[in-house]
Amino acid sequence: MPLDPSRTVADLRELQQLTGDENGAQRVAWTETWERAREWLRGKVADTGAEQTIDPAGNQWFTLPGGSDRAVLIGGHIDSVPNGGWLDGALNVVAGVEVLRRIAEDGSPPVTIRLVNWADEEGARFGRSLFGSSAAAGSMSDQDELRARHDAAGIALPDALQEYGVELDRALEARSELEGASAYLELHIEQGPVLESMDLPLGVVLGTFGVERHGVTFRGQAAHAGSTPMDKRRDALAGAARLELEIREIAKRTGGGAVCTMGGVVTKPGIVTSVVETADCLLDQRHLDADKLAGMLRDAKEASEQFARDEDIEVEWERIWNIEPILFDERLIELADEAIHEVAGTSHHLPSGPLHDAAEVARAGIPTVMLFVQSLRGLSHTKLEDTKEEHLELSVQALDRLAAKTISSFAGG
Ligand SMILES: [Zn+2]
Repeated sequence: MPLDPSRTVADLRELQQLTGDENGAQRVAWTETWERAREWLRGKVADTGAEQTIDPAGNQWFTLPGGSDRAVLIGGHIDSVPNGGWLDGALNVVAGVEVLRRIAEDGSPPVTIRLVNWADEEGARFGRSLFGSSAAAGSMSDQDELRARHDAAGIALPDALQEYGVELDRALEARSELEGASAYLELHIEQGPVLESMDLPLGVVLGTFGVERHGVTFRGQAAHAGSTPMDKRRDALAGAARLELEIREIAKRTGGGAVCTMGGVVTKPGIVTSVVETADCLLDQRHLDADKLAGMLRDAKEASEQFARDEDIEVEWERIWNIEPILFDERLIELADEAIHEVAGTSHHLPSGPLHDAAEVARAGIPTVMLFVQSLRGLSHTKLEDTKEEHLELSVQALDRLAAKTISSFAGG
C-alpha cells in the first residue's frame, strides 16, 4: 500500500479521543494516560513488523531491520503538557508510523529504520524538558538535581520513573541507542506564526536558537514620592524601563530572527508612595548565530551601563542559563528543501525558537534536520493548537520524501 497521509490525520484524531478531554491533550509523561498512548502506538506499529524496545531512559524504539546496521532515525514525542494540543510531538511520531508502513510495504530497506518516541520531552510533571533525548545524547548531567525533584503532589522523580521501569541512575545507558545512527529526522508543528504569515505550509529548520538568560538588577534609592524632586531621584525602574525598550532596538538591529524578551520586572519597595529602589529584571535573548547572540548580549550590557550612569543608579548582571545555537546538518537541510519543494512547490528556511529533541540528537553529533509545518495562529501548548488537515497531509508526504532521500543517500554512499 502506498503512503496514505490521511491515515495519519485519522490516527491523530483517534489518539486525541483516547488520551484527551474537553480541555485538551493529557498525555503528561510518567502518567497512566501517557502509558496508554505508548500502548496505542505499539498497536499502530505492530503491522509494520518493526520490533519495539524501551531503552533505560524510557524512550520507546521501533526497529525495522534493513540491509545495513546503519540506521536512519525518525523521532518525536507522544507526551504533551497538561491541557495541551493534539499535534505537538504526536504529529512527528504518528507521521513516522505512516512512513514506517510505507517502507515496510516496499520490502526490506537498504538501511535500518528506527522510529523513536522520546520520553518526557515536555518536562511537564517535573520541570525537566528533553529527558529521554538528553539521556540518549549523553548530555544529561543533572542526575543529582533530578533525584531531588518532586511533582506537585510531592512524589519524587526517581519514584515516578521507577513505576515505568526507568532507573534514573541507569538512564544514560540509553546512549548506546544512537551508536549506529546515520541521520535523525523530525517533523514538528512550528508553534509560531512565521509560516502562516508567509502563507507557506512547510519549512526547513536550520537549527535551534542559542539562548542567553540573565537576571539584571538596577539599584537606586527609595525616596518619598511627594518630597523628592524629579531631578534628585535615583530611580531603579527608569533603568529597567529604558533597557526594556532598548532590547527591542537591539533585536531589530541584529535581525536574522533575533528575539529579546524582558519576561519580568520585580520592583521594591513596590509601593505607590516611593521611588523604586531595586528593579530585578529577567532578560532572555536568542539567536541562531553565536557571534550575533554574543553581540546582542554585549549591546544590552553596555546600554544598561549607560542608563545606570544617566540615572545615577547601579546595574549588575547575573547569568541564569545559556545554551549555544545548535545547527542542523547542511546535507540534510538540502534534502529537506528538495522534499518540501516536491510536495508544496515552495520551501522556506527558518530557525526554531523552542528547543526540540532534535537539538539533543544534533548535539550528540548525529546529522539531524527538522521540518516545520504551519501552526494556525501560531498557538501551541493549548487545546486551540491546530493545523489545517491538508497541511498535515503535506507534512507526512514531505517527511516520507525526506526519509526516502536520506535512506538512498546513505545506502548509495
Ligand atoms: Zn514538541
